[in-house]
Amino acid sequence: MSGALQVIRVAINTPLNQLFDYLPPAKASGAQPGQRVRVPFGRREQIGVIVELDDQSEVPANKLRTAVELLDGDALLDEELMRLLAWSSTYYQHPPGEVISAALPAGLRKGAPPTLPRQFTWRATEAGRAADIATLARKASVQARILSLLIAKDSMPEAALREAHSNWRKIVSALQEKGWAECHETVADDSGPGIAGDTPPTLTQAQQQAIDNIPDSGFAPCLLEGVTGSGKTEVYLQLIQRQIAEGRQTLVLVPEIGLTPQLVDRFRRRIGDAVAVMHSGLTDAQRLNAWLAARDNRAKVIIGTRSAIFTPLAKPGLIVIDEEHDASFKQQDGFRYSARDLAVWRARQLKIPVVLGSATPAFESLHNALEKRYRHLLLPERPGSARQPDTHVIDLRQHALHEGLSQPLIQAMRRHLDAGGQALIYLNRRGFAPTLLCPACGITEECRRCDARMVLHQRSGKLVCHHCGSERRAISVCTECHTELIPVGQGTERLEQQLRKTFPEYSLVRIDRDTTRRRGELERLLEEVRSKDARILLGTQMLTKGHDFPDVTMVGIIDSDQGLFGTDFRSSERLAQSILQVSGRAGRGDRPGEVWIQTWYPDHPLLTTLLNGGYDRFADEALAERRKAAWPPFSFLALLRAEHSARVEVFEFLEQARSLAEGLATAGIQILGPASSPMEKRSGRYRGQLLIQAANRAELQHFLAGWRAAVSKLREARRSRWSLDIDPVELF
Ligand code: ADP
Ligand code: ZN
Repeated sequence: MSGALQVIRVAINTPLNQLFDYLPPAKASGAQPGQRVRVPFGRREQIGVIVELDDQSEVPANKLRTAVELLDGDALLDEELMRLLAWSSTYYQHPPGEVISAALPAGLRKGAPPTLPRQFTWRATEAGRAADIATLARKASVQARILSLLIAKDSMPEAALREAHSNWRKIVSALQEKGWAECHETVADDSGPGIAGDTPPTLTQAQQQAIDNIPDSGFAPCLLEGVTGSGKTEVYLQLIQRQIAEGRQTLVLVPEIGLTPQLVDRFRRRIGDAVAVMHSGLTDAQRLNAWLAARDNRAKVIIGTRSAIFTPLAKPGLIVIDEEHDASFKQQDGFRYSARDLAVWRARQLKIPVVLGSATPAFESLHNALEKRYRHLLLPERPGSARQPDTHVIDLRQHALHEGLSQPLIQAMRRHLDAGGQALIYLNRRGFAPTLLCPACGITEECRRCDARMVLHQRSGKLVCHHCGSERRAISVCTECHTELIPVGQGTERLEQQLRKTFPEYSLVRIDRDTTRRRGELERLLEEVRSKDARILLGTQMLTKGHDFPDVTMVGIIDSDQGLFGTDFRSSERLAQSILQVSGRAGRGDRPGEVWIQTWYPDHPLLTTLLNGGYDRFADEALAERRKAAWPPFSFLALLRAEHSARVEVFEFLEQARSLAEGLATAGIQILGPASSPMEKRSGRYRGQLLIQAANRAELQHFLAGWRAAVSKLREARRSRWSLDIDPVELF
């Protein structure tokens, strides 16, 4: 091999689906996969990650460019993570450079060193502790106050001092000169105050059984199906403690909206400050900090949303996916990965257990459990005196609605409110009214860029499209015939008005995207709920996910019918999940709960099966239907989406893609379409799609690799915006 060429193959953040070959930097020795490298790319320089080394290249030797410098002494990304990223890139048909970029904290992506920002803490010296504070207070009261603080707190980071006094630096310098305060450099750590003090409750038999059946090590996918409030989180916590005792780490993935300060608090109260948090709201420094804490084994537990699946782990022991059915685990644009599916893949590679927890598991996961590919662990009851709520259906054919509310619903609310409970009212539609109608000419106000109606937002006086975000001033009379327009239907804003009128004596909070736009507002509103300042809780999905409100005794579902007639093969699954998840907010404390559901279709088989037979019966029937229709999990899908401002371009591209597919398809591959997307026009662009259905995952993968490459070379592919979605969760 002497004299053989050495080539580094580099992933660079570009949409090109390939790696790029370079010669290693002149002075560098020992380039290795996982290191970052600065390379010339086009006319600029880019930062890439070395994926592999080779002794030959398809690029002619005289065309090979030389990398500028290695940015890392050792591999920044270990072999295990590199393998996960490479597999993700192949499986999801997404450019490797973009995949690796998605996995890196922004700072590292830009080339920053993998070290923490410097941070200093201050503390009082022995002399400071002995100082006469009363005397000091007479001469320099602020100094005395800060010194007392330092003594009381043991040590204070600069951020805390800044909060205590704007001129803190001068004050601590003065104290330092007197020899009363000193400063230490600390490793910046955002894990916050965490005092592990909570004693775990005595486990229920079902919890104990679940824990006994989840192994400590070895690949073991487990579905923990436990009704809402049955103590799944408690099971996670005890599994995690077992891992910590063995010196291993746990990665916990939660849905986007589920990562609340309360959840993190609960973990820290049990586990202490070795809990790192990863989500999109972090600053770059915080994110880097959590990433390094996980990589360097300072964090024992990493709780994060979707993208945390790419966190490096020094001593991985366990992966937990909470609310595994949640759609936010699937990225819906760009690199469209499923964090849940990757978690199972990663656990297999690492030979560790992975626990998928939910009250309403995804049908795919349930199917895997029924087929014995996953261990199935059940928590059928709530611990202690808490019971599953009673459910009542209100037949709207028999009970008139007044502004969205029926009498039985109002009466039930009053009963619970008067008894001191809280009532949670669920309506998954924000704004005032979804339709603004002219009663004379029948015209509704439409979005000019989408096939959708404008939603009236009365408080802001606007018509808003919930699909593209377009807004215009609300009007009150028809532009054609000048008749007064009527707002039709209910949104949370309108329901709020009506509920305040009906229950003036009870305070209300509304939680939806409109009321929580400002930072910190969601936390503030949730605090009002927890402190019981608010008695009526009105909201959308935001209110229903993962929150534990012990004093909610009644849940009202205003409109359960939205999902009954969906077009997507998953709409019934989603309907069942949302009804049960909302219902699960009732009666989590010691008072029994009630759920009231308003519907025009009380005899609809979906509803009756769910309410009489429970989720598993519902899932059984739905899975039987999917088997007949060969939908997932009985087949595997990929969706090619395309959009263009001219409709004809979309279909020309999709037709071309279809004929390429026909040429490549093996026996188990079916091609459906092209068809218009369910909402064909959105944001001023026409949208269409081609669905690929396969009986077998490997066959689909094989087909897709060839097809994607061919499609990307089409002339039409440069004109339309297109994407390929593997295992899509939405068929539009
Ligand atoms: P889930 O994650 O299934 O919604 P949690 O773990 O949050 O359930 O538990 C619901 C409530 O029951 C919490 O207040 C929790 O502290 C309490 N809890 C959980 N397990 C037990 C137990 N074994 N004994 C008593 N209370 C428990
Ligand atoms: Zn629109």
